[in-house]
Amino acid sequence: MLKQFASLPIIDSHVHFVHPERMDELLALMDAVPCGRFNLVCIPNPDATNHNPAAIYFKKHHPKRAFISGALDYTVLVDPEHAPEQLAEQIFTLRDSGFDGLKLIEGKPQVRKLLPFPLDGALYAQMWTTVEEIGFPVVFHVNDPGEFWDAERCPDWARESGWDYSDGSFPSKEDLYSEVENILKRHPDLKITFAHFYFLSQDLERAGRFLDKHPSTCFDLTPHLDMYHDFSQKPAEAKKFFLKYQDRIIYGTDTDTRTLQRGESGVNFTRSVPQIIRSFLEINGEFSMPNGKRYHGLGLSQEVLGKIYAGNFERIYGAIPASLNV
Ligand SMILES: [Zn+2]
Repeated sequence: MLKQFASLPIIDSHVHFVHPERMDELLALMDAVPCGRFNLVCIPNPDATNHNPAAIYFKKHHPKRAFISGALDYTVLVDPEHAPEQLAEQIFTLRDSGFDGLKLIEGKPQVRKLLPFPLDGALYAQMWTTVEEIGFPVVFHVNDPGEFWDAERCPDWARESGWDYSDGSFPSKEDLYSEVENILKRHPDLKITFAHFYFLSQDLERAGRFLDKHPSTCFDLTPHLDMYHDFSQKPAEAKKFFLKYQDRIIYGTDTDTRTLQRGESGVNFTRSVPQIIRSFLEINGEFSMPNGKRYHGLGLSQEVLGKIYAGNFERIYGAIPASLNV
């Protein structure tokens, strides 16, 4: 890591650990940042398994470093009548077995289509009540970049992943935002961190209105498409935003062992992400990355960096991961 970076504790709030055999490789990547603690966020697989066992395996080996956020188990859908209460019960099971929070990717349009249940509907109603009652933190992926709904602007790599939403069979961006508004209307104390800046990097005014309206929510800094380019287009407005909402913004990279599986290009990409994010937060003014892209950094103070890198996460999750009990 470049030596001009601040020497502060760092927690990566958003890491995908899918391959147990890559544990040491992931640790080496975290140590390069250097990132002492991280939150392994689990998601369901299309075959109804999920990443929870891999996260437990990691925490068993590194109990002080790994927070783990569990995925829901959708095998309960075989019994639709009881599924809502069983999803709610899963929250207690996750907490009691040592998960630090919940991860939901159910608001990603592709997943919202595969699991065709409104986020604010009956299937999840009891779960939200439980999550709010016990104050269980949630990392929630809702939406995707606007380009994915436009066949002409959707990048090829996104289309190949099934993220071209232009055929009309996927929920719209505004549909998904309004499902979230309905959830938060009913459950204003939910501690939700919305992944990828809630896909509002092009509209900081709207992002601010959302955070003002929902004081228990945060945004994470995991990149999407052009997020850091978007911020760099309006550096003064971005800096104002980051200062005003310094208690609501959380560091995260979306490091993913599935990306590492792509070989050298995946490893290089994974290495570049913390560099871009840290440079953006710490460097004052323009900088360029090895890939030639130019950004405009915010030059935030140590105090603000300390909150974004670790303080805000610790306020929500505590400083030390929960103990495993499986
Ligand atoms: Zn992610």
